[in-house]
Amino acid sequence: MFERIVNEANDAVMVAEINPETGPGFRIIYTNAAFSRIFGYAADEVVGRSPRLLQGPETCADTIREISAVVHGGSSIRRRILNYNKAGRPVWVDVNIVPLPGFDGEIRRFAAIERDVTNEVRHEAQLEQLAYVDPLTKLANRRYFEQTLQRELSRAQRLHLPLSLAILDIDHFKQVNDRWGHPIGDRVIHGVAQSLLKSVRAYDCIARIGGEEFTVLLPGADLDAGKRVIDRVCADVRTTVKVELSETTVTVTCSAGLTARCGAADAGDKMILRADRALYMAKNAGRNRVAVFDSAEDDAGDSGPGPAWMANASATAQDIPVKVD
Ligand code: GH3
Ligand code: MG
Ligand code: MG
Repeated sequence: MFERIVNEANDAVMVAEINPETGPGFRIIYTNAAFSRIFGYAADEVVGRSPRLLQGPETCADTIREISAVVHGGSSIRRRILNYNKAGRPVWVDVNIVPLPGFDGEIRRFAAIERDVTNEVRHEAQLEQLAYVDPLTKLANRRYFEQTLQRELSRAQRLHLPLSLAILDIDHFKQVNDRWGHPIGDRVIHGVAQSLLKSVRAYDCIARIGGEEFTVLLPGADLDAGKRVIDRVCADVRTTVKVELSETTVTVTCSAGLTARCGAADAGDKMILRADRALYMAKNAGRNRVAVFDSAEDDAGDSGPGPAWMANASATAQDIPVKVD
């Protein structure tokens, strides 16, 4: 009777022997109908084989080791793991491992009750994608950038490594929209995003933080190295972003404000503020250029306070040590 109930269940049920006499490891001795539905194997295709046949390249080895240790220890465990069906497709399951003691109390078998949660996991991944990815360019959004800046800044401070941050803004972008319309403006923004992606290394973080504003975070780059990269990035935007229309080709330039982390007490929002000030100066100086906020000039060292102007609420852009090429 119990077998019939188990066979009618919606969750996959697999029973395996622990340390079977035929060899080391586990050996499947029973699977129900839902197991065949979810994984595509008929019972007689898997009975006698190791449950390892459900594992694949992306299955978390640590979770498998953890489950195995718990099974050998005779207790139960519940985990989410990635399995693969007979066709090799990924199947996410919430698995409940239950040891089955024999009449003598010794545990020689366990049951795995597995619920298919693939759709749920996909849905969660889509929500995460929406929360962190800009839909127009598929770059990281402001929220992701702020979290990455925080993480990279802590890492750079811990390891005493440099870190540069640039904010880029397309010049006279309103004119692009006004002249050719919003959809063409969107294509330009997309083109700039592609150009940025091609111009930096894989571990640099690019994000779209506003309408036509982007950030480039360069771990390991001090102000000099950052300046070389951002000069090249802006030159690439100037020369490679082209939206072809029947009557003309739309091209753009951009301006950038660059800063680097300064001192152990530096903070992400201070870096953003400095890069923003430098951007403002680049715009004021005529656009199509990179301005650098050289915080070293008034940095009191690793334990000192931030730049002097930060403490002065009435500081104007002119007070700020910004260099514009
Ligand atoms: P500046 O050189 O000083 O940066 O001038 P600008 O015209 O680029 O700057 P401004 O901030 O005045 O204009 C930015 C424009 O970007 C205004 C807004 O209509 C446009 N914009 C913002 N988001 C989008 C978007 O997603 N798509 C398009 N096509 N335009 C956008
Ligand atoms: Mg602009
Ligand atoms: Mg702008």
